[in-house]
Amino acid sequence: MLDIQKIRKDFPILRREVYGKPLIYLDNAATSQKPDSVIRSLVDYYENYNSNVHRGVHKLSMESTEKFEEAREKVARFINASSSNSIIWTRNATEAINLVANTWAQEHVNSGDEIVLTGMEHHSNLVPWQKVARDKQALLRYIPLTPDGRLDLTNIDDIICSRTKLVSIVHVSNSLGTINPVEELTAKARKVGASVLVDAAQSVPHMPVDVQRIDPDFLAMSGHKMLGPTGIGALYAKEDILENMEPFLRGGEMVLEVTYEDASWNSLPMRFEAGTPNIADAVGMGAAVDYLNAIGMKSIRQHEVDITSYALDAIKAINGLDHYGPEDMSQRGGVISFNSPGVHPHDLGTFLDRLGIAVRTGHHCTMPLMRMLGVPATTRASFYLYNTKSEVDVLIEGLTEALGYFNDGSR
Ligand code: PMP
Repeated sequence: MLDIQKIRKDFPILRREVYGKPLIYLDNAATSQKPDSVIRSLVDYYENYNSNVHRGVHKLSMESTEKFEEAREKVARFINASSSNSIIWTRNATEAINLVANTWAQEHVNSGDEIVLTGMEHHSNLVPWQKVARDKQALLRYIPLTPDGRLDLTNIDDIICSRTKLVSIVHVSNSLGTINPVEELTAKARKVGASVLVDAAQSVPHMPVDVQRIDPDFLAMSGHKMLGPTGIGALYAKEDILENMEPFLRGGEMVLEVTYEDASWNSLPMRFEAGTPNIADAVGMGAAVDYLNAIGMKSIRQHEVDITSYALDAIKAINGLDHYGPEDMSQRGGVISFNSPGVHPHDLGTFLDRLGIAVRTGHHCTMPLMRMLGVPATTRASFYLYNTKSEVDVLIEGLTEALGYFNDGSR
């Protein structure tokens, strides 16, 4: 059991009030809050050893390089990567996926190949593949969804087939909360010789993720969703694949030898990190990993299971509220999207905001999924390690009040 009250003390923002009410932050799928240790790591970097990495012989540069590379090691160990050479710093999960689409896919996807996605992809794992498909005359295929928002694997052997070049799938849906069977799908892809990318933006922050067990070729994540700073994320890729991939961006740091005519590439991981990297935020992401490890990812997942099932039961008991995604908590992360027919999600979100409750309203960067659900948008509550059942109670009271207000025929 997590000591939530103790954990909450580590997050300064949770002490603030909104419109005179205590902040209830339920927008963790968009971005998470930051503990003191992460904030302090950024200040410490700028106050004590700010300097460019991999370049200087001076003390500060050596210190910043050491901390920067130590953070890479921490991220590697966090997802059980066998080498830190497999971790490429990016700005976020979106950039990690674009890196693969602009390098590996340019070389490996050919006319007539198929790229398999799911019907619940975030735009980040959809729009880059639309461009690859257009450029290469390849075909995008989608694993359909069941009515309760799981992947419908009935025809999976027709979808992942000999024409499949890449299977690129979201691990945990940011809109539905669904946890997808990425291990099983990776095994299917392997059987037909296809490569696999896992969008782990919503899984790595919330549950143990082991790249040696899932065995993808690529995995994308964002620091800001796992208690780290914005502007830093990572691409995990198998080392032998990276060794044979063309660089993404070109310039300083990623080269070995440069002449007026030509250039050769640096070793991994620097080959994929042109220019001065986001040093401070990488160090901050390392501090976030330390914090999560100290709490324990299994305990965090268990807490989210408890709080999400508690919230789901309460939401189901409210009359006139539709909710999306699987009921079975073994197939669901800490995300609940809901709608009340006749009440626009933005109105609902604004009403809750006035009560100090931060939820997300909109399409959550999954417009095709919203279209499939037949709604323009949903309201989404998403939980993390610092949320409590009493916060859920306030959400439920607020929702009940809001629905009474908006559904009052006299208004
Ligand atoms: N994939 C999923 C499932 C997400 O939820 C998000 C963020 N909402 C992303 C990708 C993109 O993450 P970022 O904006 O940090 O690049």
